[in-house]
Amino acid sequence: MSEKTELELMKEQLFYNQKNGYDRLPKEEISELENYCSRYISFMNLAKTERECVSESVKLAEAAGFVPFVPSMELKPGTKIYRNNRGKALTLAVIGKKSAAEGVNIVASHIDSPRIDLKPNPLYEDSEMAFFKTHYYGGIKKYQWPTVPLELRGVVALKDGSVVDVCFGADKNEPVLVITDLLIHLAGDQMKKSLAEGIAGEALNVLLGSKPLEGEGSDRVKLAVMSILNKKYGIVEEDFLSAELTLVPAFEARAVGLDGSFIGAYGHDDRVCAYAALEGLLAVGVPEKTAVVTLADKEEIGSMGVSGMESKEFDTFIEDICDAQGVNVGHCFRNSACLSCDVSNAYDPNYPEVSDRRNNAKVNYGINICKYTGSRGKSGSSDASAEFMAKVRKILDDGNVVWQTGELGKVDQGGGGTVAMIMANKNIDTVDVGVPVLSMHAPWEVVAKLDAYMNYKAAKVFFE
Ligand code: MN
Ligand code: MN
Repeated sequence: MSEKTELELMKEQLFYNQKNGYDRLPKEEISELENYCSRYISFMNLAKTERECVSESVKLAEAAGFVPFVPSMELKPGTKIYRNNRGKALTLAVIGKKSAAEGVNIVASHIDSPRIDLKPNPLYEDSEMAFFKTHYYGGIKKYQWPTVPLELRGVVALKDGSVVDVCFGADKNEPVLVITDLLIHLAGDQMKKSLAEGIAGEALNVLLGSKPLEGEGSDRVKLAVMSILNKKYGIVEEDFLSAELTLVPAFEARAVGLDGSFIGAYGHDDRVCAYAALEGLLAVGVPEKTAVVTLADKEEIGSMGVSGMESKEFDTFIEDICDAQGVNVGHCFRNSACLSCDVSNAYDPNYPEVSDRRNNAKVNYGINICKYTGSRGKSGSSDASAEFMAKVRKILDDGNVVWQTGELGKVDQGGGGTVAMIMANKNIDTVDVGVPVLSMHAPWEVVAKLDAYMNYKAAKVFFE
């Protein structure tokens, strides 16, 4: 071994040296990483909507000793509580040793993902085939959604107050649904259009059937499809008016790559972070400060509404904890800290032109800390303070979490936002952290296993 030169030693001391996560991961953690990712894959195959994420998360939480939070409850250090917001959002907490006056530690993620929703009046027949009209949810590249197998999931609420769960296409013995596309042979005009215009929103109609009921008259295929739905779910056409039915990809979550180092799944954004936050919280013993995870709905369409992060539901949850301890919630927020845990873009060497390589998250470099999001000069971002960034760096380093920093693409290339600014507006120190994703918002997104695992570790050490 040759001695290091003076310059090499200086570089080691003065430069920020990033290393691939696999060169930093202790060998004994590899099986833990794989086990974590297997559990995450199982979760993803069960939870393809925000409602399913809530019900699966509640199951895991209850198995770990969490109970529904009612305001009169006695809260002792180690008490585990959750509140289910209308079946679409969830907040959980483990009460800490310290008073809420000293603040709480929050991880906030979202559990809604881009998808294809049914219109309120969806069912029709054309050319002796039956279809659903749809209205897409969130930011999608519309051309990615035709010709992929789809499942129908969601609920239909009936006038008698009952709610029917719908899940069609997930069972291997059941048919799936699909949106058709034009054959290349006749697509001369379509192919001249831009990617944004090639598939129109109103062309995202879902193919449902072609077998007419025996007899005479019009709409016999539509009638046949409606009668299948009626037999299976007990619904009539008017019931679509009070339904939340959505089409999600019928793909399974599974390992990707010859080395299996990635996970492909529908809805990594943002369930890869939501699941990490949840498992991180379930692994906490009795924390010093109360540990809180909130899983919000509606982030992909602006976080508004009763189940979105802008809803007062989260504040009420923290207020109820504060009331039980005789603490002013404003003071609690002022001393609290939040990781807004949402995905970022991973550097994709196939599209280098959109990123600043020196400032973009890379796969296998761990959880990404994003000081600010926004677009056109950080507009619409909460921009975490230097002091808070330093605290987060220390927590992650002390916990042996592999982490990196990165921003969403080149300056003026585009941009995006998360729930960070909503949390920061409550007077809570907040920073964005999350897993880098390839093909974000596509029907099947890709993350690196190492990064997904590091998000779990980050949530755990943040609470501890
Ligand atoms: Mn997201
Ligand atoms: Mn998103």
